Amino acid sequence: MRIANVEGRLSLLTAGGAVDVERASDGRFSSDPQAVYERWGEFRSWAAHAGGIPEPVPEARLGSPAPRPRQVFAIGLNYADHSDESGFAIPKEPVVFAKFLSSVTGPRGRVVLPEGSVDWEVELVAVIGAPARRVPRERAWEAVAGLAVGQDLSERDMQHRGPAPQFGLAKSFPGFSPIGPELVTPDEFDDPDDLAIECAVDGETVQRGRTSQMIFPVPELIARLSEVLPLYPGDVIFTGTPAGVGAGRTPPRFLRPGQRLRSRIEGIGEIEQEFISRAAESEEPA
Ligand code: ZN
Repeated sequence: MRIANVEGRLSLLTAGGAVDVERASDGRFSSDPQAVYERWGEFRSWAAHAGGIPEPVPEARLGSPAPRPRQVFAIGLNYADHSDESGFAIPKEPVVFAKFLSSVTGPRGRVVLPEGSVDWEVELVAVIGAPARRVPRERAWEAVAGLAVGQDLSERDMQHRGPAPQFGLAKSFPGFSPIGPELVTPDEFDDPDDLAIECAVDGETVQRGRTSQMIFPVPELIARLSEVLPLYPGDVIFTGTPAGVGAGRTPPRFLRPGQRLRSRIEGIGEIEQEFISRAAESEEPA
């Protein structure tokens, strides 16, 4: 099953297009995409037999399939080759930080570049579909509603300034956590632990890997996180990025105004951001 946030409304994606869930269910399910994760099992049963009239999907106006998660986790250094390019040893346990909610946005659109050095990090995003506490690894996929493509955009100067890494703030400027284009349930994949993942700047591929290269795969992350704290339905986990970030290059490369970043994961789809300067933003009509 695939769902999307179409202009703020929960939609079921079918071969014919997007079906508005509130209308097709006669109000049984809310139009709020975030609310559906609280009733995920019930929703899946309904969706298996849903009718409704499909409409064309307005790609440019999609929002995040999880627009208001209570918790947004992110995992650092979760691919050995990225850990290596970042100058760190392979972590023995997940490096966990939080991205702030105000940075979450839809799959397409413009992102204002703050001062500093803004870098790309394509990531598989897992959205939680059931309350999860002390979930064993073997059952952890059952707690996942679905997968999406994400970018963990990062301002590297702030990230590395000061006495300790400033992950949370440096990765939470507005628009720094795009998610989409849709949410795909784990059963849609031959192997949800092994998906091609890549991103390109202005058409040049800069990151390319497979999610099977994760040091701590999705089920392991859910087991370890839920050992420490409860995961809520609709929570989001950015699962780490493969090698090829700008900061790991010689010389380093960062995003410039006018550039486009396209990120893709096998079986899910593609998201795209265009970067603009702060000056260009202030010239735009309000
Ligand atoms: Zn990241």
